[in-house]
Amino acid sequence: MWDLKEYRIAGSAGEAVAMMRRGPGKGVYIAGGTDLFLFPPTCDYVVDINHAGLSDIVGSPDGDLFIGAATTLHDLATNPLVNRFAGGLLSEAAAHCGNRPVRSTATIGGNLCNALPSADLAPALLALDAVCYIADEDSQESLPLEDFFTGPRKTVLDGRLLVGIALSAEAAKRRALARRLTRSAEDIALVQVAVALEVIDGRVGAVRIALGSVAPVPMRAMLAEAQIEGELLSDLTPDRLADAGLIAASECDPIDDHRASAEYRREMVGVLTRRVLASALAWNPSDDKEGGAA
Ligand SMILES: Cc1cc2nc3c(=O)[nH]c(=O)nc-3n(C[C@H](O)[C@H](O)[C@H](O)COP(=O)(O)OP(=O)(O)OC[C@H]3O[C@@H](n4cnc5c(N)ncnc54)[C@H](O)[C@@H]3O)c2cc1C
Repeated sequence: MWDLKEYRIAGSAGEAVAMMRRGPGKGVYIAGGTDLFLFPPTCDYVVDINHAGLSDIVGSPDGDLFIGAATTLHDLATNPLVNRFAGGLLSEAAAHCGNRPVRSTATIGGNLCNALPSADLAPALLALDAVCYIADEDSQESLPLEDFFTGPRKTVLDGRLLVGIALSAEAAKRRALARRLTRSAEDIALVQVAVALEVIDGRVGAVRIALGSVAPVPMRAMLAEAQIEGELLSDLTPDRLADAGLIAASECDPIDDHRASAEYRREMVGVLTRRVLASALAWNPSDDKEGGAA
């Protein structure tokens, strides 16, 4: 049960951090509240960030995208700029989260800051080289999303506020696809694999393979990426892709729980990585005029 003494509403990111730092006692930020109401924390006050101007999705003329931390999953799933970015990888990830009422209030910031290994937006954002913008009272810093998670339910934030996520125009052109395994539509994922890669003149350029639910934090399978990066498409036979899948499986560190065994999760990382890579490599540009693999 919540035993709140105060509900604070911030009008800006800086004010939110100041309200958080002010005390007395312990505070937590609240955005959609969908995670917080499932697992109410022990705290004296909350800082509501829904009026802090953090709900915008802004595209630059160059094709970069900035997504405010308080943007809802429904907005991510339906926004035309996000739909077109890298074949809609992030929109699809958002559309698979929970149900419609949850998506209407749950936010991208809450999904990342809750820092569950199974957070559904994390693999898609890692595959797109997302950069986090983090505010303190009088300063702001940016860091790659892959450095944001420090453990299950732990991040680098330490009282600071996630302001938003930036995606570069470069990532928008990647062939991007993801697959997730679940026991039921509303259960958390057992295994998530997201792949984003570029192909230039028949050769693979940058490759990102991101995994969720199979390690203490969402992660990239960098050794598997290195197997594919720089290779000619014609050299990437099914056996080579299967090898990349096995390497990704060896890089993760899944747990046994009531949903699935570690062994099963690891095997599925290999299978899904191979399949998603094969689909991304076989993608035909005329399938998607906007530039990405749907
Ligand atoms: C029925 C149901 C189904 C769900 N299904 C899924 C699913 O399929 N996939 C999935 O990934 N998740 C799922 N979730 C979990 C949840 O809805 C998402 O993680 C959601 O995106 C959390 O966002 P929120 O705004 O509600 O977070 P909140 O509950 O408001 O906050 C979550 C945590 O993040 C912190 N926080 C929030 N915003 C910030 C910020 N900007 N800066 C710093 N800290 C911040 C809060 O203090 C809190 O600790 C489900 C939840 C429910 C109730």
